[in-house]
Amino acid sequence: MKTFVTRKEMIQWRQQMATEQKQIGFVPTMGALHQGHLSLVKNASQENDVVLVSIFVNTKQFNQSTDLQSYPRMLSADIDLLCPFQNVYVFAPDEAEMYPADLEFDPMPLGRIGELLEGVHRPGHFEGVVHVVHHLFALVRPHSAYFGQKDFQQLAIIRQLNRYYKFGIEIIGCQTIREPDGLAMSSRNLKLNPSDRQKALAIYRALSHLKQHVKQKELHQAKAEAVHIIENAGLQIEYLDIVDPITLESCASWQTSQVCCVAAFCADVRLIDNMLCESVL
Ligand code: AMP
Repeated sequence: MKTFVTRKEMIQWRQQMATEQKQIGFVPTMGALHQGHLSLVKNASQENDVVLVSIFVNTKQFNQSTDLQSYPRMLSADIDLLCPFQNVYVFAPDEAEMYPADLEFDPMPLGRIGELLEGVHRPGHFEGVVHVVHHLFALVRPHSAYFGQKDFQQLAIIRQLNRYYKFGIEIIGCQTIREPDGLAMSSRNLKLNPSDRQKALAIYRALSHLKQHVKQKELHQAKAEAVHIIENAGLQIEYLDIVDPITLESCASWQTSQVCCVAAFCADVRLIDNMLCESVL
């Protein structure tokens, strides 16, 4: 597995790819790779000549130092998981390579979309995401970049970033990969003990319940039932909202299409998930 750690190596690789007229797909990650990440890599690998996977735990997007300290780091295991892909390269910079002191950055106004959902509860989080993705896009200059719908709001912000900075990259949203029992795959699941792992399933049950009852029950009733399912399992909800898929504004009544977004603590592990709920009527 060809792994780069410096900006200089990345720039040389990018020049070589341009000379060889390779189509580049890009998958940014924070490592502790699981099948969710690998599904992005697989899509990118099939749709491009070469793929760059970045692995960097971005300090700037953590609003809690305990969360940052306990975030799983396992670079050599990550590289092993990527080895079967013939056309994949890895960029695993350290802090100084990612954020050189002399590198300029003009922050993008997040606007309304950044004020909702995660924006309310994780101050500074999306500013940190935009900062790192801006630097990565500028360095890698991929033709397409792959992001998970698991981080639904993040995907919307990345699309906004791509327009704002005029990168002209094709942004591809990939479906959420779940464990066989429905739990959305996440690097944070590694922090759950077996009993909490079982409790966390309530999130999927609640989202599925909502999806089943679109236009069958009043929105506020279906939402209250979803909240109850999660709280009854012993999780603490930070937010659960049914929102418009484009604006992410809260829906007062059912639309043809809406997304239910949830963030909840299972013990001290913060989990997020969402589900597209479309009307079949
Ligand atoms: P992370 O390492 O958590 O920053 O995630 C890197 C990328 O993988 C992001 O675009 C995530 O949305 C995506 N991702 C994380 N979990 C999943 C999942 N369960 N299914 C699909 N994509 C995912």
